[in-house]
Amino acid sequence: MDWREFPDWSEKVANWSAHYHQTLRDRPVRAQVLPGDIEARLTDWPPELPDEMSQIMDDFMQLMLPGMTHWQHPRFFAYFPANVTPPSMLAEMLMSVMGAQCMLWQTSPAATEMEVVMVDWLRQALALPVGYKGVIQDSASSATLSAVLTMRERAMGFCGNKLGVAGQGRLRIYCSDQVHSSIDRACWIAGVGQNNLVKVPHQGPLHGIDVTAVKQAIAADREAGHIPAGIIGVVGSTSVGASDDLGLLGDVAAEEGLYCHVDAAWAGAAMICPEFRQQLWSGIDRFDSVVFNPHKWLGAHFDCSVQFLKDPTSQINALKIEPEYLKTTLDGITNFSEWTIPLGRRFRALKLWFLMRAYGLESLRDRLRNHVVWANALCEMLRASPHFEIVTEPILSLFTFRCAGDDASQQRFLDRVNDDGRIYLTLSEFAGEKVIRFQVGQFDTTWADILSAHRVLEELAGELNRL
Ligand SMILES: *Cc1c(COP(=O)(O)O)cnc(C)c1O
Repeated sequence: MDWREFPDWSEKVANWSAHYHQTLRDRPVRAQVLPGDIEARLTDWPPELPDEMSQIMDDFMQLMLPGMTHWQHPRFFAYFPANVTPPSMLAEMLMSVMGAQCMLWQTSPAATEMEVVMVDWLRQALALPVGYKGVIQDSASSATLSAVLTMRERAMGFCGNKLGVAGQGRLRIYCSDQVHSSIDRACWIAGVGQNNLVKVPHQGPLHGIDVTAVKQAIAADREAGHIPAGIIGVVGSTSVGASDDLGLLGDVAAEEGLYCHVDAAWAGAAMICPEFRQQLWSGIDRFDSVVFNPHKWLGAHFDCSVQFLKDPTSQINALKIEPEYLKTTLDGITNFSEWTIPLGRRFRALKLWFLMRAYGLESLRDRLRNHVVWANALCEMLRASPHFEIVTEPILSLFTFRCAGDDASQQRFLDRVNDDGRIYLTLSEFAGEKVIRFQVGQFDTTWADILSAHRVLEELAGELNRL
């Protein structure tokens, strides 16, 4: 394709993009195709000769769109949102145009320096103490893996990278039984092992970790000759929003000399609102590492995960490698690829700059507050219904419920809802039973969308009950 044709196609894509977002309510939320449907529409061999762009674009519309689940749909209530806002999308376009690799300061000084400033804007927005630095990663999973590698290296006197983990004793990491699977995977990959990730029960209305049990587990492990390496807390678990008491948990880490990390991937965004901090954020200043995803609830286009670090030195010591071809001679610069696992990195800070400037924190707060209010209101409507029982109360904008019947009935009801297509929900598990999750977080969701979700749930539950 010639650059002279590019503006024309870009304009077509831009027009289609606005139309797509404005008419999303008319589409089913979850893709309504069967496994293999889309693959069967594609030719089995690559073309030898060029296709017309008009044909490629038509095929995208005809063949691919039906196979898309619409994550930006205002009635997307599944998983967590991955909000795309117009300003962050424009920034993504600009950075894709330049295609810069921002691994070292000198490979794009603007990217590095803006990243420093954007992380600090977010530090202030989330009320983290002065002094925290940070880095933008692709995902919370990568940030958590970086933190677990740091725990490992710190506990091994920074010789694990050299010696390997074999025969070095059993490193132990502690967390609650509500944490995201990315914590398990980080422990697999770091060589800590699933059996050395000690999952402590939760308790209380926020389903937070039992801190006394953490202390006991650490004492027992020391007694047995194991090596406690770190503690991982959660604010807003994926299933039900479980949130640990960070003050108490951070105190244990300090008493035991353990590195500590918090996964606030989804709920962290809500900490831009001061009223949520008292309950969910007190004690955050005790943590060495904190991850939250602006690409979820804050409206930064995926991917954008910020890892705050009280002192980046340990993580840099765990991850930095400097071959001859990456050496630079400048002093006083930051090379962010030394803070993370991949070398190549995108200019992700740009979309945070566009986003925060185009909205302002106050309008972002308004949106999040509405989501929390609406989730609570819907929860009350479902509580009042004969068809449903609430299992876990709203934590921010997430609650879980069940319809009548056993676990198989929950699955049947959920399939009925998602095949219908007007709303999209997903299941999880709590206290050994299947629960249906409801989260509000899509940026274009309105109160009317919540009311239609309520109507759909009542209508389909009534229908199933009559069968
Ligand atoms: C979404 C989520 C994750 C995983 O985030 P990725 O960025 O996709 O790796 C981890 N923890 C929690 C609590 C989450 O909500």
